[in-house]
Amino acid sequence: MALSETGTNHFKNYIAGEWIEGDSQVENINPSDTRDVVGLAVRSGGADLDRAIDAAHDAAPGWARSTPQQRYDILDAVGNEIIARKDELGRLLSREEGKTLAEGIGEVVRAGQVFKFFAGEAVRLPGERLDSIRPGVEVDMRREPMGVIGMITPWNFPIAIPAWKIAPALAYGNAVVLKPAELVPGSAWALAEILSRSGLPEGVFNLVAGRGSELGPRMIENPKVRAISFTGSVPTGRGIAAACGEHLKKVQLEMGGKNPLVVLDDADLDVAVGAALNGAFFSTGQRCTASSRLVVSEGIHDRFVSALTEKLKTLVVGDALDPKTQMGPVVDEKQLEQDLSYVEIAGQEGGKLAIGGERLTLEKPGFYMAPALFTETSNDMRINREEVFGPVASVIRVKDYEEALHVANDTSFGLSSGICTTSLKYASDFKQKSEAGMVMVNLPTAGVDYNVPFGGTKGSSFGSREQGRYAVEFYTTVKTAYTQP
Ligand code: ADP
Repeated sequence: MALSETGTNHFKNYIAGEWIEGDSQVENINPSDTRDVVGLAVRSGGADLDRAIDAAHDAAPGWARSTPQQRYDILDAVGNEIIARKDELGRLLSREEGKTLAEGIGEVVRAGQVFKFFAGEAVRLPGERLDSIRPGVEVDMRREPMGVIGMITPWNFPIAIPAWKIAPALAYGNAVVLKPAELVPGSAWALAEILSRSGLPEGVFNLVAGRGSELGPRMIENPKVRAISFTGSVPTGRGIAAACGEHLKKVQLEMGGKNPLVVLDDADLDVAVGAALNGAFFSTGQRCTASSRLVVSEGIHDRFVSALTEKLKTLVVGDALDPKTQMGPVVDEKQLEQDLSYVEIAGQEGGKLAIGGERLTLEKPGFYMAPALFTETSNDMRINREEVFGPVASVIRVKDYEEALHVANDTSFGLSSGICTTSLKYASDFKQKSEAGMVMVNLPTAGVDYNVPFGGTKGSSFGSREQGRYAVEFYTTVKTAYTQP
């Protein structure tokens, strides 16, 4: 099915090897130009979801018996096609989500790389053998597929997040039911379309778009689904974990962040400003790894704030598909309202708005906002406790490294953290003591590799890690086999 790059597409669901209509349709609106309808996306109800789960359940045993070479060939070909079509798929992604075209294309390439990485993992599935404590008995430990995996994904990485859940699930022999976020049905559809031609047996992969509040609980309650992988907000994740506990279902959650970027007096100023600009504002600040708290020591504070403010003054906000644009729009009206409300809250709490923070009216009607930087904030303000998920960052002034470390860790989240310093001593100490799942030295808090684990501590993550070979933990179960030859 061809993708229209400028017209309105029809995004259907993919269940049991067939493209199907749902109960109703929703418009997929371009946040850079609300007159542009990217697609009409079908919305399925519970009956379609049940059919998808049944199909996955029927297909799972056959796929579990597929050879590593078959899995390799399919996943590698899917990865190759995604990468070969990076411009077209990147355009679709940026058109429906609003990140810049360069970011959209980069995300598509990442999705392709993830499929190719897990193609390799499929032929590298590890097992283990131990000597039994009993004479003559042999013991081995095997990794086996879980069965049907339910996936619930958010809107901010419309193709990469589905990819890093689907690829390992398939590599390790599972069947999949994906429920993508309502705001970005197009990228999920494009991925499903590629998978539908990949040689996967019918039912091994299913796409069911619909309301999260309706399909999510129904997916969790279905006994045929053995595990749920979720990325999204903390409140939704908490509810999912509770429901999975009730149904004794394996669960993996990736949620929010309030990620600190520490800047010490001895930092290279250009490196620090570059890391802050990228970490806080690229992808319109809509990344769970965004640096929303800039924890800056006294000696460099004023120089850092003025250099970052200068950069923000010239940052080009505009249509995601315009090559001159450096920051695209916010994803939708609701998110924009949330971002603007936090600007107001931060001001009321005593934060000083250094720049930005207002809605922008540009030539095209869209959800545009000037990137906001607050100074003179303290770590107990709401702007530093709660995830905004927009182009809003705040500076917290600290005395020295010790205070910076304390502030960085004083949060209910723990996804990513960063430090800009030229001191080996502070860099080493921070890597050791930072209470985050990912620590960056002289790098933005956002932007990760696909061959290593992704995830956090405290309220940011729950369950085992995603990505890299650590993904095997979630997508397999262990069988211990004893033999008396
Ligand atoms: P975000 O703010 O990033 O959209 P959400 O947690 O609201 O975060 O949404 C992430 C995903 O969870 C979406 O696919 C959404 O449809 C889904 N979702 C929303 N509500 C529920 C729910 N009650 N149970 C399961 N999934 C849900």
